[in-house]
Amino acid sequence: MRSVIIDGYVDEPACLGVPPYISPYPRYIAGALIDAGIKPRDVYYYTIDQLRAEPKIIELMDRADLIAVIAGLTVPGRYLNAKPATIQEIRDFIARYNEKIIVGGPIRLSQKSVLRNEYIAKKDLEARIFDRLTEKGDTDRWHTTSEIKRWSVKGAQIIRKHPRFPHNMCEIETYRGCPRETHCSFCTEPLYPHSSREIPDVVNEIRALYDFGARYFRIGRQPDLFSYKGIETTDGFKPNPAAIEKLYRGIRRAAPELRVLHMDNLNPATITEFPDESREIAKTIIKYHTPGDVAAMGVESGDPRVIRKNNLQIYPEDVIKAVELINEVGSKKGENGLPELLPGINLLHGLKGESKRTYQRNLELLQTIHDRGLLLRRINIRRAMRFKNTPLEETKISINRKLFHNYRNTIKKTIEVPMLKEIAPKGTTLKNILTESHHGQNTLGRQIASYPLLIKMRGILKLGIFVDAVATDQNHRSLTAMPVEKDDHRKNDL
Ligand code: SF4
Repeated sequence: MRSVIIDGYVDEPACLGVPPYISPYPRYIAGALIDAGIKPRDVYYYTIDQLRAEPKIIELMDRADLIAVIAGLTVPGRYLNAKPATIQEIRDFIARYNEKIIVGGPIRLSQKSVLRNEYIAKKDLEARIFDRLTEKGDTDRWHTTSEIKRWSVKGAQIIRKHPRFPHNMCEIETYRGCPRETHCSFCTEPLYPHSSREIPDVVNEIRALYDFGARYFRIGRQPDLFSYKGIETTDGFKPNPAAIEKLYRGIRRAAPELRVLHMDNLNPATITEFPDESREIAKTIIKYHTPGDVAAMGVESGDPRVIRKNNLQIYPEDVIKAVELINEVGSKKGENGLPELLPGINLLHGLKGESKRTYQRNLELLQTIHDRGLLLRRINIRRAMRFKNTPLEETKISINRKLFHNYRNTIKKTIEVPMLKEIAPKGTTLKNILTESHHGQNTLGRQIASYPLLIKMRGILKLGIFVDAVATDQNHRSLTAMPVEKDDHRKNDL
């Protein structure tokens, strides 16, 4: 029985799977296939970009017995050298393959009615595939944590089939779903049931990935890493520093020569409610991780009216405290040229109650952070999208384009570029930049990291190798740099 997994890429608030990232979804699907009795050699895995470039893959799909397509961007971004699957491509697959295809992932939340049909998994794609193959029928259900314990390990081997292997970042899940009782109006995470994996299960998955050659890991598939294995109290989930220590120590033992261990997603409210535990966790992360790490925080708005109307949890003065704490623990420079751990801030527009004043309030918040000498490694500003079954579903989102454009430019010029000049000043040596493409007479590269900076290096360098480079200038989210001569640029390669 031949099965083909097509990775159309996902980008969700708490999960990234656009190359060089590989999300847990295709790995879990491969594990479910193998657990259901399919031989590993009959599990094919291709990315959508490979499929577009190699027509032979379509012939293979024509001959396959089962096709699983994973896709969906709930927070779309701009991607270097990767183009996610489009709705039209998904429609074409469904029209061509009918009952032998199952499409899943966050695409199920799409507002496009054409996708609401029986070939879309309404819950976990891997669970539906497993049930089909084990003759329980096509059920729409969520996977269980004991299934993920097996599938994450059995499916780890498909990373070797990823076109960027071994230079791909494995996104790792600790828990999903939001444990809060009231939810932020825009967020799709509450559409997953809250389920938390056991620490040994996460560590065993990393060991399996490592044994197959993975060296880059991000603990990114959860809405708030600091709350993982938290203890429920009347004030929310009290962070559990011992659990994070156990997780990170376990990872380092399981993958002793990993190259990158980064995190994603931190709820700033956790820091302000539980600063002591949070400080301890931040210190633990720095003890075990690799530098250039980013704690991206969903702030969303600095406007109290918007905060109230959208059930957001945190007000500007608390955001500043959270930024302060991460800076205090993490701003020291690490061996790859970047600070150990800095905060990132996500801001969202198009929420309920938004007005011109919201832009002003957000600017004031960022300016205060800057004036206090604190650093943000990244400011992410995006427009809210409406999804089914979220409170924002029925809200009309209107954004004044000119205002939005000017606001973004002001933030770039007055906050982001000056901060980047402090984070990576001229003369900083940035290590292990993977060369990815050519642009004119320059080579573009990035470190394999959480929110890597784009680095533009003069000259045409061989692609797919690691180089070091010295920063010569800073732009918005990018640096220009001079590559450092090495006797053998390939010596860092795996
Ligand atoms: S706290 Fe808000 S943004 Fe975070 S997961 Fe819950 S609903 Fe989503």
